[in-house]
Amino acid sequence: MIDNNALSAEEAEQLLKVCREEGIELIPQINLLGHQSWHSSLGKLLTVYPEFDETPHVKLPKEYKWPNENGLYCKSYCPLHPDAHDVVFALVDEVMDAFEASKFHAGMDEVFFLGDEKCPRCAGKNKAKLFADEVSKIRSHLKENDQELWIWGDRLIDGELTGIGIWEASGNETHLAIDMIPKDVIICDWHYVRADPAAVCDCC
Ligand SMILES: [Zn+2]
Repeated sequence: MIDNNALSAEEAEQLLKVCREEGIELIPQINLLGHQSWHSSLGKLLTVYPEFDETPHVKLPKEYKWPNENGLYCKSYCPLHPDAHDVVFALVDEVMDAFEASKFHAGMDEVFFLGDEKCPRCAGKNKAKLFADEVSKIRSHLKENDQELWIWGDRLIDGELTGIGIWEASGNETHLAIDMIPKDVIICDWHYVRADPAAVCDCC
């Protein structure tokens, strides 16, 4: 399962060498859970393993438009598919070995498809718990090798309360996952334009 623009092992080694020479710590990223497609093109994971698709009934259109009737932005894999993590973790381990890294960035931003009502495994489940369980599962896998998990922070921000909307914050209740994930997960706060103080806690 090799993507079209994938780095070779030699290229990874070269990158690592340059980073070390310049005092840069390289943190590899694979987008997990969400971002398994881009508007009209399917990513490699779901191309090779279509059974992992959270929303197989949603077909990618030739011409993408937003808004659309399915709420399609990017596809997700099903976090409860019994075989998904065998594949996903093999990819994570391969990348971590290639870059001799101790920190891994799993993306997990802009997850719109989660707990889909037509998914035989996820339908009716609490979306914050589905998100938190996936974070915890990835974190536990990394922990076995003394590696640290980094994720983007947008799914953990309440889009309605903050008024920053469904793109750089959550519109499907996943923000409640903030209280369910291990405290050693590094959350990377990002914003499109304005630097809203999203990381400010309510106790100070
Ligand atoms: Zn599912």
